[in-house]
Amino acid sequence: MTDWIAAAAALTPETRLFIDGAFRDAADGAVFDTFAPRDGRRIASVAAAAEADVDAAVRAAHRAFEAGVWSRADRRERQRVLLRLAELMLEHREELALLEALDSGHPIGDSLNVDVPNAARVVRWYAEAIDKLTDEIAPAPESALALVTREPLGVIGAVVPWNYPLIITAWKIAPALAAGNSVVLKPAELTSLSALKLAALAAEAGVPDGVFNVVPGLGPVAGQALGRHPLVDKIAFTGSPAVGRGFLRYAGESNGKQVSLELGGKSPQLVLADVGDLQACASAVAWGIFYNAGQTCHGGSRLIVEERVHDQLLEEVLKVGRSLVQGDPLDERTQLGTIASETQLERVLGYVDVARAEGATVHGGGRVRPAGLEGGYYVEPTVFDGVDNAGRIGQEEIFGPALAVTTVRDAEEGVRLANESDYGLAASVWTSDVTRAHRIARRLRAGTVWVNAFDVADVITPFGGFKQSGAGRDRSLHAFDAYTGLKTTWINLGDGAL
Ligand code: NAD
Repeated sequence: MTDWIAAAAALTPETRLFIDGAFRDAADGAVFDTFAPRDGRRIASVAAAAEADVDAAVRAAHRAFEAGVWSRADRRERQRVLLRLAELMLEHREELALLEALDSGHPIGDSLNVDVPNAARVVRWYAEAIDKLTDEIAPAPESALALVTREPLGVIGAVVPWNYPLIITAWKIAPALAAGNSVVLKPAELTSLSALKLAALAAEAGVPDGVFNVVPGLGPVAGQALGRHPLVDKIAFTGSPAVGRGFLRYAGESNGKQVSLELGGKSPQLVLADVGDLQACASAVAWGIFYNAGQTCHGGSRLIVEERVHDQLLEEVLKVGRSLVQGDPLDERTQLGTIASETQLERVLGYVDVARAEGATVHGGGRVRPAGLEGGYYVEPTVFDGVDNAGRIGQEEIFGPALAVTTVRDAEEGVRLANESDYGLAASVWTSDVTRAHRIARRLRAGTVWVNAFDVADVITPFGGFKQSGAGRDRSLHAFDAYTGLKTTWINLGDGAL
């Protein structure tokens, strides 16, 4: 087993902004600290982009777009460079995984085997798609030829959260770059390090100067500057609903740029009494909320269960929760890592009090302080039973390893409660009756519905939500819609005389 703690101690991560093909400090020299959730200690000081730095990055991106070095490059050239980037990500898999685990608290095994390979796969997948997309000829009259072609939008501002820094970044930058856009990426302030490594790899792969820029910084400063910049053509955002609405406001008050939003969720896992394999169901339900310590936007944070199977299922879910190896994210045996920040830790623990006040029975819910890592942000797997779906625990996104359990009399009530949420990101239904499964899947208001499964996902399918979970979709070929505009070209063919 690699000694990840020694590797982390020897690490000297890049901490400067990446603008126009070069790393540089912020113009005013400002920095902010980034901390390791495993022990609460400072990892490094990262350059904090201010408005002037974001402006420099956007102007570089705009210049590169206008010059056509990437936007008008042969598709196969873009393909070659992005395929090389995917390869480099895998060649640097250990360093990327370590940066991600150290900075975000993901277990190193997950970073190595899920985060980095998935992000590289997304880059490769969009690179491979570039020369397989064809445009349209519209059914125009005989006197004309009408072409409908896709063009890159220009400068894309990608603003991402801390829960899956590499994967969510890849979902946005891969289709954006593949389509020929320039990108300015604003990583979350908690997790900038893997994005800066990605910038170095993109340059090494041959992405031209100015085409891909990374501007770490505080949300209200750097994020807002990007959201308001008149030369940004589109913002692709993943994060909280409040900030997502902020980006709509920035767009409205600046240049009316396009905005796509992937916001939160409160995804129901609906288990009916005719569930087939209860054991498999319990395991999926537990992993659906405890994976990544519950910091997953589509995490299955509500278990809605028919009363006949409630007791047995709950017992099995608690068993799975207790069996998870919780501890140092830099230990390869760890299955359950940390919460990403102290603020988020306090928020999650605060919900334990809310649950008690709302009359729920609380299983777990305590802070954990592993020996030698007492300053880290660890919370036990937590289950709130007897939750009123209309209360705060049933409605608010906790973003921690906390499952809200609500019992229902039948499927009708289950579907009604599953849909009684402001969110509509994902849902699952568990039943051994396939016809019923289809009927219920149709009724669930969610961007993704799983039947007898949870969290099966791949770049091949779209991801995003209905209602307040956002607008627009990441992943799949549909993501090209988000990063291109349709152009119509009418060609006059005259009166038919040759
Ligand atoms: P956040 O909204 O606070 O931050 C997201 C990004 O926005 C960060 O880069 C941050 O720096 C920036 N930002 C913050 N305040 C800003 C402001 N005033 N102006 C401009 N930019 C600003 O979210 P978070 O706390 O990093 O992430 C957790 C949230 O993200 C959760 O609510 C979660 O559900 C959601 N999320 C959604 C998805 C999805 O795909 N639907 C995926 C992951 C996370």
